[in-house]
Amino acid sequence: MAKHYDVVIIGAGAAGLAAAATAIANDKKVAILEMGDSPARKVSISGGGRCNFTNAAVSVDKYFGQNPNFVRSAISRITPNDILKWAYEHQIKWEEKNPGQYFCSTGAKDIVKALLKDAKNADLFLTTLVTNIEFIDNKFYIYSKSDEFIATSLIIATGGTSFQTVGVSDFGYKIAKQFGHKIIPVRPALCAIQTNSFSSDLSGIAINVEITIAKHKIKDSMLFTHFGIGGPAIYKTTVRDFNDIHINLLPDTNAYDFLRSAKQKVGRKSVANVLSEKLPMRLAKWICNNTKNIADYKDAELKLIAERINNITITNKDIKLHNLQSAEVVRGGVDTSNVSSKTMESKLQPRLFFVGEVLDVAGDLGGFNLHWAWASGRIAGENA
Ligand SMILES: Cc1cc2nc3c(=O)[nH]c(=O)nc-3n(C[C@H](O)[C@H](O)[C@H](O)COP(=O)(O)OP(=O)(O)OC[C@H]3O[C@@H](n4cnc5c(N)ncnc54)[C@H](O)[C@@H]3O)c2cc1C
Repeated sequence: MAKHYDVVIIGAGAAGLAAAATAIANDKKVAILEMGDSPARKVSISGGGRCNFTNAAVSVDKYFGQNPNFVRSAISRITPNDILKWAYEHQIKWEEKNPGQYFCSTGAKDIVKALLKDAKNADLFLTTLVTNIEFIDNKFYIYSKSDEFIATSLIIATGGTSFQTVGVSDFGYKIAKQFGHKIIPVRPALCAIQTNSFSSDLSGIAINVEITIAKHKIKDSMLFTHFGIGGPAIYKTTVRDFNDIHINLLPDTNAYDFLRSAKQKVGRKSVANVLSEKLPMRLAKWICNNTKNIADYKDAELKLIAERINNITITNKDIKLHNLQSAEVVRGGVDTSNVSSKTMESKLQPRLFFVGEVLDVAGDLGGFNLHWAWASGRIAGENA
């Protein structure tokens, strides 16, 4: 027997549960269909288990996609303060790791609990993989292996396809295509970069760097790995449009001036010894492993060494994103040009909504993706 609902939501992730809460508040009969055996699995592992659930710096320039302006209306209506108010009402304890970056201090499980509490009046169907959808006589027919659901409105909250171990699917893209939407090709974002520019011997070292990509400067920590580079600075780089990247290993030091001054003052030290004042020795040796005294270097040679410190360039064509499996989000997804930024409703199919990461919207590292999930989800739930 088919089950009838006002609103069916596919996906019990961050955006789907946020949508359920506002649809229920509008007295709608709501079902959430989730293929996994537990809801909000990505929320549970987010922020290293402490869920970085919003950021005071939410603004259009923290979002990336073909049309970053798409987020403008939603993030001006659902602000970081609204999310903090929600957290306060649910007695969620938070802390700021960096100023304005909010984490749940008692663990992501408490955020999941709060989401489920808000959605408690919805029927949640777990282990219910939706396999196809039809639109007949003004209603959506939604099929899983064993069930059939009929809905007036349908919200697609199926997420992105990164981090596959938690269980992800490309079903949202398929449905979008079925109703005439274009899909912007998906690629990993907020992930590490594979590169031969550094030695794998540096693996494990973390330092603060400055990365320049196009006109943007990113100052954060970078981690050397056995295959390349990762850490927050690199994650923030990979969510942006592809471009050459320039890495400064000593952002606050003009390395050439520093080396020339050391040549005068401590001429009998090796370059690596001099650099180890400011950088880990392993890295200093990778920069210059010659044991001769710094005093024996010509200034032109020191200039070349300084370049290896202040301006390491990895060209666009040499950037290889690590992989979809380890990426926190994807760039790409359902093209936003045929989705209303005010309601999240499809402009091609009335009462079909897209929310969260399934859309071509990727946020920067720092709580911006979950903020987008809450904001777009709430708005679709209100309008469905
Ligand atoms: C390791 C990691 C850490 C992260 N940390 C943070 C963080 O601290 N802060 C932050 O802002 N962002 C973080 N993110 C990103 C953030 O978690 C996601 O952007 C966000 O969860 C997306 O929400 P969503 O609801 O759109 O999709 P999801 O949360 O992925 O939910 C989609 C749901 O749809 C279900 N589904 C898919 N297809 C079907 C189908 N056919 N039938 C039924 N169900 C289906 C899936 O099983 C899933 O439960 C992190 C991501 C990862 C991987």
